[in-house]
Amino acid sequence: MKILKGQTIVSGIALGKICTIFNEEEKTIPHYSILDSQIDIEIIRFNKGMDKARNQLQEYVEESYKTLDGNASKIFYSHYMILKDKNISSSIINSIKNNLINVEHAIYDVFENFIDLYRKKDMHFHELIHDFQDVRETLLNEFMNSDDDEPCPIPGKSPIIIVTKRLSPYMINDMFDKNVLAFVSEEGGFTTHASVLARSMGIPMMFNVPVTSFCNCNDFAIVDAENEKFILNPDNSTIKDYEIKVEVFKQNQEKYKSISKLPAKTKDNLNVDLKVNINLPNEIYLLKEHNFDGIGLLRTEFIFLGKTQPPSEDEQFQTYKKIVSLYKDKPVTIRLLDIGSDKTPAYLELPHQVNPDLGIKGARSVNYFKEIFMNQIKALIRAAEYGNLRILYPMVTDISDIKIFSGLIEEAKNELSLRNIKINQEIPIGAMIETPSAAIMIDQIIENVDFVNIGSNDLFQYTLAVSREHQDIYSSYPIFHPAVLRLIKMVVEKVTEKNKEVCLCGEIANIEEAYPLFLDMDLTSFSVSVSKHSVVKLKLSEIDKTKIQIVFDDFINKIRNENKN
Ligand code: PEP
Ligand code: MG
Repeated sequence: MKILKGQTIVSGIALGKICTIFNEEEKTIPHYSILDSQIDIEIIRFNKGMDKARNQLQEYVEESYKTLDGNASKIFYSHYMILKDKNISSSIINSIKNNLINVEHAIYDVFENFIDLYRKKDMHFHELIHDFQDVRETLLNEFMNSDDDEPCPIPGKSPIIIVTKRLSPYMINDMFDKNVLAFVSEEGGFTTHASVLARSMGIPMMFNVPVTSFCNCNDFAIVDAENEKFILNPDNSTIKDYEIKVEVFKQNQEKYKSISKLPAKTKDNLNVDLKVNINLPNEIYLLKEHNFDGIGLLRTEFIFLGKTQPPSEDEQFQTYKKIVSLYKDKPVTIRLLDIGSDKTPAYLELPHQVNPDLGIKGARSVNYFKEIFMNQIKALIRAAEYGNLRILYPMVTDISDIKIFSGLIEEAKNELSLRNIKINQEIPIGAMIETPSAAIMIDQIIENVDFVNIGSNDLFQYTLAVSREHQDIYSSYPIFHPAVLRLIKMVVEKVTEKNKEVCLCGEIANIEEAYPLFLDMDLTSFSVSVSKHSVVKLKLSEIDKTKIQIVFDDFINKIRNENKN
């Protein structure tokens, strides 16, 4: 059994055999040089292939209009228009002539130039990369011999989970009348056209799962898009547990839909602040379907990852501005870059550390990367003019760390004033409470910030001295360990005394069964994954706080390791 983590596009649970579609595009495309005398032949080949591809796309537009919703045919029409673009055709022909290369090579290069252009642009344009990849694939297919495709060993209309490197809208369209249980891909995005289609078909979907390294056609798997897990070759007891979960999920499906538009409340009408965690900027588009109380934690690491250099102040400003403007009336809590062992971009050169989790993290990294933090803070202060932005400090241990970050904010404000930029002096500031020291020193910390977030993932790691990366040892302790719960309780009491907000935003907030316990601890603010928002809201609506009777140890034993991994 192997558990792989990923990102949910469409929530749900599915169990079944997998069919792998690993398209090794780059490897199979023929690249060769041609002679001057062969140019005309290549151009004739190109024109024929282009005509066929356009015709095929036209068919997709018409067919999908009949079978899928309007979204699908609009998507295929936009792809058709890319192929109609004269600029693209002439660039391919020029590349054949000038570089003396075969048509497939020229198509690949010309599309790659567009893809590269969009890679360098703002996040919004990144989704266009997928469109250009999809159209290139369709066009190249006209030149390739697809007879050597391995036949899928799973017969006809048997239910299958499609596992692929990259999912295109064409694959989804072609699967329309097949019995697809779920889609899982290695690459992708929240707003790619493939995701848009999967969402309108209501089929569970995950991406960012490293499937190509582990999956084989015909393997058995569980897609738990509710908890962002892909379980390959599960053992019998896991299968049994999940068969029950699938039943419960099916029964609750309608209830999730209807509650998603309502405010979060308990059965006895206690208002609960139910926010969402955002890990990738485009995830915000999934929020349209939810009535949520703001973004409780926006992890900014992903804006910094996958690049060769840190994003500039302006680039970050555009990203943050877009997010806060989209949800103007709701608090958007943006955490400063959390440099840690698991999510450090390669361009941030850190000295070798024997134990990085106990090394250069949080405020301790400011000395190493001051300019990067300053650019981020300046971008955030500028974006705060466009909505309800709050800044969250990552891992702090005591007020000296708070002072380091607050010093940067003052410096950034001064610099922006010198540039005559309008500054909001009232940006709320919060701190992550995720070290035992911060929890113990909470009475001092809370005097210096406006709100706190409890990061139970790291609080668990540091309290029990067990690395988050060490699954075996991590799993040997109950996730609701009394030591962690006592620290959380202490923080809640001290912060509530000061009438300030304390929000639980670690992974345990996604475990709906634990809400009687959280409410009993007087927590009323939570931030959960988008995929769990309605699930938690439904659970809250079933709890009567006045009737909660929890025997702490019983509760801990009951959900002891159920939610690990
Ligand atoms: C946490 O530690 O609980 C948390 C929310 O932060 P991250 O998981 O990003 O470290
Ligand atoms: Mg953390």
